Amino acid sequence: MKTLYRPELLYSDGRFIEHGEVVVGEDGCVIGATKGLDLSAAKIVKLPGKALLPGFVNAHSHAFQRLIRGKSESRAVSGRDFWSWRGTMYHAASRLDPQQVYDVARMAFLEMVLAGTTTVGEFHYLHNAPDGRPYDDPNVLSKQVIAAAQSVGIRIVLLRTAYVRSGFELPPDPGQTRFYETSKAFLKNMAALVRDSAERGTSVHCGVAPHSIRAVPLRELHEIAEWTRASKLPLHMHVAEQVAENAACVREYGATPVALLAKERILAPDLTAVHGVHVSAEEIAMLAAAGTTVCSCPTTERNLGDGFVRADDMMAAGIRFALGSDSQAQIDSLEDARELEYHLRLQQQKRAILDQLGGKPLAARLFECVTIHGAASLQVASGELRPGAFGDFFTVDLKDVSIAGNSAEDLLPIIVFSLNRSAIRDVVVNGRVILRDQMHEQYEEILSRYRELHEKIWSDAGVR
Ligand SMILES: [Zn+2]
Repeated sequence: MKTLYRPELLYSDGRFIEHGEVVVGEDGCVIGATKGLDLSAAKIVKLPGKALLPGFVNAHSHAFQRLIRGKSESRAVSGRDFWSWRGTMYHAASRLDPQQVYDVARMAFLEMVLAGTTTVGEFHYLHNAPDGRPYDDPNVLSKQVIAAAQSVGIRIVLLRTAYVRSGFELPPDPGQTRFYETSKAFLKNMAALVRDSAERGTSVHCGVAPHSIRAVPLRELHEIAEWTRASKLPLHMHVAEQVAENAACVREYGATPVALLAKERILAPDLTAVHGVHVSAEEIAMLAAAGTTVCSCPTTERNLGDGFVRADDMMAAGIRFALGSDSQAQIDSLEDARELEYHLRLQQQKRAILDQLGGKPLAARLFECVTIHGAASLQVASGELRPGAFGDFFTVDLKDVSIAGNSAEDLLPIIVFSLNRSAIRDVVVNGRVILRDQMHEQYEEILSRYRELHEKIWSDAGVR
């Protein structure tokens, strides 16, 4: 049955319109103009007092890192820098069994849904058993994460991650034994996962993620990138997050990661470079010339002390941004979006720095990063409510305290800069309601299982 949604305000082409309509077909996709459409048998959902917007796309997530939240916020306990934080993260990664991988992923995905997210790009690098041996099914942990997304109802792009080595001139790291695969094993397992995912319906997709130039040397990187391009899948990679990684790349190849990827023709429109924090003006020009998307993760980058992205120079050069919750320090796509601008304001002591870059008003520009650009980066037809796209959207309560006093003209900047999660009421993915008036069917069960798991993982840890 078709469903016709009638919100008070509808987000369409960068602005809100009054009394707009969205029709979703039986296949879960948006149907175009309602004129001439037979809607006599359609279900009509009236949404007075609510605005309807395309769902957020979280383009870079490591779901299991939800377990680290709050565990590394002092200098005494691994909070000194990125590398010591990583030790805490490895501690959690080393302990999880397949059931626990499922439980923690459900927790992270539930929080995303409550924040209006309808698609997650899950950069997944836990593959092996804790002793480093592959499971009987080498994709079992990827499948657990996919099953978690299906259980919560969120659309997932499982970006299966290749992790071949610890780094240039570094011995294997015991904290990474669950990540390692040869490139040959990786491609075999990747192909099997793509086949399996094709049978799981239209809300499950795959992509390929060589972890970083540190973890995947150039020869293997070429092999994996070629396979990905032949398979027409999205390619994601951590690039230039840490100064030490750039320095190691220069020692090994005589070039920084961005310059190396440009020279090797791996920078391209189908590549998403995650972070892109430590890049020069020359490298920004290379990213722009290649049409590569930068996926920024500002709430994580500020939490880890990575540095901040030069969004003004990058946007001025024409680079598209997607956004991700990455380490799950916070799960709030709008906070990531506004932080792109706020970092620059504090640094430059100016306001509205990203306004009109590329001819768009600031709020619309930031909103497209968390919707359209994220969807393009993950190669899914989501992020906007155009005909043929998936019916992925959410509603906000126009009377919520955080956004009250709005009009159709100023609602978008109010939402982008001030919306609180309490305003998000309903979430629909693929035409299916997964959050109704802030209620998710599995809320209590997901939370109680997560609390149990959290206790088990940290009780013997010495990291509390
Ligand atoms: Zn990451």
